[in-house]
Amino acid sequence: MKRQLCHLIDIRRNFKPQKDWAVFLDRDGVVIKETPKLLYDFKDFFVIPQAAEAIRLLNKENIPVFLTTNQTVVARGLCDEKFVSKTHKKIKKELAKSNAFLDGIFCCLHSPRADVKKYRLDCRWRKPKTGMFEFIAEEFKLNLKKSFLIGDSTRDILAAQKIRIKDILVLTGHAGKDNLYRFKPTLIKKDILEAIRHIIYVSGVRDCRYKRTSKCFKNIKKAVILCGGRGKRLRPLTDKIPKPMTKIGDKPLLEHLINLLREHGIIEIYLAVSYLGEKVEKYFTDGKKWGVKIFYSYDRKPLGGAGAIKPLERNFNSTFIVLNGDVITNLNLTKMAVFHKQKGGIGTISVHKTDHPYDSDIVECDKNFLVKRFFRPRLGDKFKLISKTGTHIFEPKALKFIPKNKKYSLEEEWIPDLLKKGEKLYAYYSKEYSHDMGTPERLRKVRKDCKNEKIKL
Ligand SMILES: [Mg+2]
Ligand SMILES: [Zn+2]
Repeated sequence: MKRQLCHLIDIRRNFKPQKDWAVFLDRDGVVIKETPKLLYDFKDFFVIPQAAEAIRLLNKENIPVFLTTNQTVVARGLCDEKFVSKTHKKIKKELAKSNAFLDGIFCCLHSPRADVKKYRLDCRWRKPKTGMFEFIAEEFKLNLKKSFLIGDSTRDILAAQKIRIKDILVLTGHAGKDNLYRFKPTLIKKDILEAIRHIIYVSGVRDCRYKRTSKCFKNIKKAVILCGGRGKRLRPLTDKIPKPMTKIGDKPLLEHLINLLREHGIIEIYLAVSYLGEKVEKYFTDGKKWGVKIFYSYDRKPLGGAGAIKPLERNFNSTFIVLNGDVITNLNLTKMAVFHKQKGGIGTISVHKTDHPYDSDIVECDKNFLVKRFFRPRLGDKFKLISKTGTHIFEPKALKFIPKNKKYSLEEEWIPDLLKKGEKLYAYYSKEYSHDMGTPERLRKVRKDCKNEKIKL
């Protein structure tokens, strides 16, 4: 890349774009707090709390993310270029603490009314002009029409609209009230995190890796997470909190599952709670903060996994997902849903190789992945080490087999009964991470894997 006069460019090492589009972020008011008197002193420097999580979401999806900013502090003689570079280092360092990384930083230091002559120029890069975006697009072969810009000022939005980048105004920083230019933002979101969740949501549907069949996945919008287990084996940890609220990394397990569902476009989520369910509800409330709608179903008496789904029957009139609330997983739900639709069974259960078969549900299937046998093995049994993990997809008619107001287990009753009645269940085999944390050893393992980044959270 050519060195440019009065433009600071900083590209992440070995960066190669893995998409043909990107997300452009304004700096002040979007990633760091806007200061009333321009930023030339580190005591005014604060990264916006949601920024790291938001950028990490983009990293996870391999969506290129660039910081694009005008800085007039140098042109006004308030500080030198080095200070601006230092701020960028500091932003990178702060984000890296939360495992979030910018792929590039682009900064124009010009100003038409600069006090320092060197910077006096009505530069093509300076927003609302669009030269900076043209330059980046050219450099990394990006399609700007597929790209997004998140900004807090009118100059950001105007620049984006001029060059047909999809614009999102956030209500942090200037919140569009700087009155410099007149415009109507295409979309308004509360902050950078909500904006990026939106981007991932829409791109997840449009930019689906399984384009040919992605249409069928659009119909799956609902899921139920089984959160009712008492978690006896995890006592005393589960004396005060329900098992799904156990922390893995910096969040409760359940929050990871909700994020996973949302990332695959599943935004209507039912939580079947029982023991300490009110603690779950207090934390997640209506789900808005996570970009989903959450509904709670309380079991007054223990109903078992499948028994707890029965009261929700009328809410499920199309294909839906069932997750166990004590399994942490990276499973690609989109891929699994495509498999489910192609097979056309009444249900699909995810399976993997197990390292603890004697307390797992072993799944045997034929070469078309049709499940033939589903059982708890006994010592001396011969079987392959393939067991059920905690993710299932069902057609609504499967619910008819669950008796009302009765304790009815998913593993011990529902699945075996469906097989007995000759219904077709398929096994979806995946090497993606799935691990339950129902015992202290397994919880330790999951936490260790999380620390070693074996799970992409
Ligand atoms: Mg700004
Ligand atoms: Zn410039």
